[in-house]
Amino acid sequence: MTALWEPLVTELAAWRREGKRVPLWWRDDDATLPSPALDRLLSLTAERAIPVHLAVIPRDATLALSDRLRPVAAVHVLVHGWTHRNHEPPDRKKAEFGSGRPLALVLDEARSGLDRLTTLFGDQCAPILIPPWNRFSPDLPAELARLGYVALSAFGPEPKVHGLPRWNTHLDVIDWHGSRSLTPPDQLIAQVTALLKERRHPPSAPHQIPARPFRPLGLLTHHLDHDAAVWSFLETLLEQFTTSEAVRWVSAKETPWTC
Ligand SMILES: [Zn+2]
Repeated sequence: MTALWEPLVTELAAWRREGKRVPLWWRDDDATLPSPALDRLLSLTAERAIPVHLAVIPRDATLALSDRLRPVAAVHVLVHGWTHRNHEPPDRKKAEFGSGRPLALVLDEARSGLDRLTTLFGDQCAPILIPPWNRFSPDLPAELARLGYVALSAFGPEPKVHGLPRWNTHLDVIDWHGSRSLTPPDQLIAQVTALLKERRHPPSAPHQIPARPFRPLGLLTHHLDHDAAVWSFLETLLEQFTTSEAVRWVSAKETPWTC
């Protein structure tokens, strides 16, 4: 293995030495249709027996996508907003489920999204909301359980709040604000290594009994936006995870992770 990957290899070896396995989950966003890129994603995950969670845009989701996914047992469909349209004013960051519209309207769309994907994908649909652009109104989480959602997923560290469980993602391989291709690999490797280190020795909190289980680390990808560099990095990253035996891939069908 090249020096580039050494920090990650060393960290994974430490997990193995300590007899620990890190839980990982994979979220891939923006699916509506079958495509060669989706085929590539599915073969990448199937070859390694990795469960993958597709964040599907409900209004545009097609029967063709449902037909493509039905025979693939390790795919879980999550609710990616409703139309994936920005409704925020120009001076605010993009969001579909942000504060720019009445909450009741957002909740209607969140309900429609879950209804439509449940109809199209049946048991493959897990009631987890992924607000587009990973942004949402602060009033949204408290209302989602009564719509049937069991979790909410965005990007970054989970907030220390009670309520609907958060299954966030933490490692996004694309440099959206720069090249729109692969984030420089040395940066990604440093990020994932740091995320693993934090989880291997989480800060102790003696007043917490039992200790909070540590949350799965979330990998975020967007198959429609991957170029050769992104696919190649992902292949090597998965190889590292698979061969290390220090990783346990988890899925939405397991006991829900606590918040
Ligand atoms: Zn999206």
